[in-house]
Amino acid sequence: MAQIRHQLYDQPLTFDRGSMEYLYDVDGNEYLDCFCGIMVTSCGHCNPVINERIKAQLDRLQHVSTFYLTEPMLELAERLAEITPDGLSRSFFVNSGSEAVDGAALLARAHTGNEVVVALRHGYHGRTLLTEAATNVFGSDDLPFGPDPLGIAIGENARCFRCPFGLERPSCDLACAESISTALDEAGIDRIAAILAEPIQGVGGVVVAPPGYLEALQRIAHDRGGLLIIDEVQSGFGRTGSMFVTSQYEIEPDILVMGKAMANGIPAAAYIARDEIGEAIERPTFSTYGGNPLVSAAALATIDYMVDNDLPARARHAGARFVAGLEELASRHDLLGDIRGRGLFIGVELVLDRDTRAPASDQTLAVIDECRDNKLIVGKSGPYGSVVRIGPPLTISDDQVDTALSILDGALTTIGGQR
Ligand code: PMP
Repeated sequence: MAQIRHQLYDQPLTFDRGSMEYLYDVDGNEYLDCFCGIMVTSCGHCNPVINERIKAQLDRLQHVSTFYLTEPMLELAERLAEITPDGLSRSFFVNSGSEAVDGAALLARAHTGNEVVVALRHGYHGRTLLTEAATNVFGSDDLPFGPDPLGIAIGENARCFRCPFGLERPSCDLACAESISTALDEAGIDRIAAILAEPIQGVGGVVVAPPGYLEALQRIAHDRGGLLIIDEVQSGFGRTGSMFVTSQYEIEPDILVMGKAMANGIPAAAYIARDEIGEAIERPTFSTYGGNPLVSAAALATIDYMVDNDLPARARHAGARFVAGLEELASRHDLLGDIRGRGLFIGVELVLDRDTRAPASDQTLAVIDECRDNKLIVGKSGPYGSVVRIGPPLTISDDQVDTALSILDGALTTIGGQR
């Protein structure tokens, strides 16, 4: 068998088919999926309502390239302008989150005429040359402030569970945001192209931006002639209880990036900007597959399904039940150090000691493996690999939430012992 690096488990797991909240391996075992192929299949695996529309489009028109317009692409551009925060109107379609962040950064440079893009500590933005440089999940805490040869500088994020300044909210006055201004001043960088931020860092450990933080980033970016690029590749499309989590903050992003759940598993991604920013692209942009009719039809069907079934509201409801259950588990399992997230974008940080907050990295892997043995799929994240990442389909029922909690309870008992 081909060797795949970064498998989640010691032993590979090979899936054969999926149906809404469940996955089936090649031996026919059924798993409750609380990871959704990294937060992608938010409407459930092989959702029949969505797939019917994908199949119809497949038989009608599959591909023509961005040299031409197609109705699904035009309709999708209109729909994205409706469901994203006010002012965002011009969409650029690509194939992956990495490509979309990359394009957004290049657009910010074209619009502002500035070079430096500030990304944040422990952020994840992708695997292209530029987005890899902007990715800092395993970055050391004391890296010198950039910019690197690609014009990327890494600024401090608001990571309140382990505040690098040893402060607490709200008396901290968001010293983390202020430190970015100071670092820019010290590096003699007056003008920047953008600050690039995930409102909830996913790969970085489900770290939720506290109130005021994104607002502060926007001020810093604008003061230096730059834009705020919000990366909602992981948080977008209903998971956090609203279509985009940005609308839960007091900001108006200049460019918003999306991907993953956008077409429920058909590869789709886009970035959307204000008109005047989008106009900065003067040369023709081109993407062979970006927004092709099949992908656009899949995205439209996904958005319709989310709206028709009010999945953001279901994410709020199921998320609250999940978190209440996790808090009950925390009263019995010392391993649980922190429970974070919004809606059904949940992270549970495991610690060796609640006072020192030392990360329980080995135990996290063991818990995830134990869950797998008991037919529950959850993910892992964080710079120390100590966060259990929970992201089920937004269609998950109360009974399924309770099943997931009971499997997690068993895994924590086996791995961590009980009080
Ligand atoms: N941005 C964020 C916030 C992500 O979580 C990811 C993927 N984990 C990406 C960008 C890159 O997306 P892709 O893997 O589709 O290139």
